[in-house]
Parts: sequence; structure tokens; C-alpha cells
Amino acid sequence: MPEFQEFGWNVQHLGLTDEVLAHAELTKDPLYRKIPKDRFAYYVDMSLQRGREAAQACRGMSIRELYRREGLRYDITDRSGTFHQLSLRAQIDFNQTPPEVVVYAASLRGMADAYRAVMSSGEQANHSADAKSGPGNALQPSGRTPGPHSERPPAPQDNELERLVDIHLAHEFFHYVEYRAGQFTNDMLEPVEVFRLGRRLVKRSSVVQCSEIAAHAFCKEMMGLPFLPNVLDYAFLIQTGSLSEEDFYREVEAWKSGHAAAL
Ligand SMILES: [Zn+2]
Repeated sequence: MPEFQEFGWNVQHLGLTDEVLAHAELTKDPLYRKIPKDRFAYYVDMSLQRGREAAQACRGMSIRELYRREGLRYDITDRSGTFHQLSLRAQIDFNQTPPEVVVYAASLRGMADAYRAVMSSGEQANHSADAKSGPGNALQPSGRTPGPHSERPPAPQDNELERLVDIHLAHEFFHYVEYRAGQFTNDMLEPVEVFRLGRRLVKRSSVVQCSEIAAHAFCKEMMGLPFLPNVLDYAFLIQTGSLSEEDFYREVEAWKSGHAAAL
């Protein structure tokens, strides 16, 4: 797929800073257009900061080790996850005690090329630290600890799937950290005004995507990724032909200038 390889090369030069990719996430919020433009940086910066701070305590650690320490169960399944006809890649169920994380590995298999194109170059340093968790264990069943050493070296595809699984485990782990702290990131930040009638009747709501931005920042920081992991969504859309490179570049410019592209 030569065009996509080319995209993989280009992505390094697009200036996809954490702030830019966080802004991309913010544009998905249902209240995005209610946020005053001079407040975008507040929501982006505060959310990134919370995710990074939470990652300080566990930088370089294996995410699976963190689950074990917390007594948190995870299930990596080949079942397909759907919710209101949206396909899910991972979720956390707070109705279980402790909350249980499910990662839908089948939905991640197709993302190996996207992972390779955007994530592979900048994170070699972290690979060795992570290899401790044992290669080829992406499909270990719920919360069970892989053996410390595996004799068989993993196929490259296995490695990428394993990293994708870890990225999703880390993302959901951050939501668990928020849950444990009793406060989700969006609830820590100032709500935006969504409705006003006169001077007394004002409805305000929190910006829920802030929790997603923080989870991406947590994941990037603790796993040593070169970009916030939501870049994978765009790489995947381009790779599958659902998003053209030109439209993506236009979106990137819009995020940089602090507004959503009017596509
Ligand atoms: Zn999330």
C-alpha cells in the first residue's frame, strides 16, 4: 500500500502535537460549539495535564502489571463489541466490583498497519521495557498474568496487536483512575453554558471529551508513544479510504487554528 506508507512518512511532519490532537478530540464533543473560542486552550491544557500527572506514577511500567496491582480484571476477547450500533474497541463496566475492562481484539486486528505507520518510529526505547510482560500474550484471557518469558519470538503482527491491546488497556485504566478518585476529568473542569433564559435560568454541562483527552495523554505518557493515540483513528480512516489525506490535512490545519473544519 504505497500511498499509505507515504502517509506514514508524512505524518511525522504534520505537527501533530498533543494540543492539536487534543483539539481534534474536543471537536467531537456535543457541546463543542458552545465552548467560547478563548476557552479551548483551557479545556485542552487542563485535560492533558491531568492525564500526564496520573501517568507520572506509572511511567515505564507494564499496563498489565498495573491491572494486577489494582486487582482490576480485564478480558481480551474476539467477540465483537457493539453499543447502539457503534462498534467498540474497549470499554469499562463500572457496575462490576471492581470495574471490569473488556478489549475487543477483533476490532483491533485491522489497525496493525495504522499502528506501524504512525507509532512505530518514535517509541523503540519503550519496547524493551514493555517486553517484560512477555511477547505474544495479546490474547491472554481475563487478567491472567502471562509467564515472565516466552520461548517463541512473536510474529511482528502479534507485537502490534499486543501494543494496540495495551494502548486500550491503558486508556480504560485511566478511566478507572478517575473513577477511583471519585471525579472524572470533565467534572473537574468548568462547565459550559448550554442554555440561558433571562438572568436566572441557566443550564450548564461539562465537556465530556475532556475525560477522553486526559485518557489519551495518560496512555501516551505511560507507554512512551510518539503521539496521542487518537492519531490511530485517523490513520485507520485514511488507510481504509474513509477519509482522504487532503481532508485530513485540512482538518489538521483547522485544529491548529483552533476550530473544527467545516467539512
Ligand atoms: Zn475513554
